Amino acid sequence: MKPCAASSVFCILSFTFCLLTTCPAAAQETTNGFAFADFLLAPLRVHLLTAANEPAAHTTLTSNDVTRILGKVNRVWAQAGITFYLESLRIEPAANTEGFRENVKTNTDALMRLRPESSKATNVFHVYYLKQFGPNGICIRGINFVKDTASLRAVEGGLDEPIPRVTSHELGHALTLPHRQDVTNLLASGMSGGWLNEMEIKQARESAKKRDWIQPAPEVLRKANSTGKLWQHITHIPLDCDSTRLARRRVQELAK
Ligand SMILES: [Zn+2]
Repeated sequence: MKPCAASSVFCILSFTFCLLTTCPAAAQETTNGFAFADFLLAPLRVHLLTAANEPAAHTTLTSNDVTRILGKVNRVWAQAGITFYLESLRIEPAANTEGFRENVKTNTDALMRLRPESSKATNVFHVYYLKQFGPNGICIRGINFVKDTASLRAVEGGLDEPIPRVTSHELGHALTLPHRQDVTNLLASGMSGGWLNEMEIKQARESAKKRDWIQPAPEVLRKANSTGKLWQHITHIPLDCDSTRLARRRVQELAK
């Protein structure tokens, strides 16, 4: 595999795609031909739960980890022309931690009870990170939980670390996708693959389009141009084009 400027996940996925389709090119194929105008931008609120007296409910992930994880998630979801931008990062004490470890063994709603009231919101996707519970991750009524200690069986062309893959998988469920137990697939259980098929891409995009809080990239660009805000959202799109380059420049200028 040739090295490229993008991350290894991007390259690995591109490589897999090329194997499957015998296409000659590399990185761009992970977008399946989706251009900037096709991309849908979905807000994602990331919660890093803390719990002084309950290690299982306390993540040790940092904001740098979140940046890396989200970059990989977005390279996976570029296959469907969907990008998750960081609506906000909440580092916050988990609620109702007493007895969590015991309770979660019999009822996954113990996870839902960890959600701090003040950061609940509609019209965003949520992912909560904590240290330890039964499965690698779970999507409960659209709310996602992922454990720091996730582990997966490595498959050829799969992601190079479990947490971004598990996060991407749960977001697939949040976008209505069911399991599909094919070795290299994103919706396979317990494996590192990141692949989506045509039907899954269609279904996920239709689900996204039904939510009026998920916006087409050109609409976000228009608002960014008129308000001077929202440029950050566009920078999450893993494309190198005029619009994403402009957004990155604007974010750099605003940071000065
Ligand atoms: Zn699943």
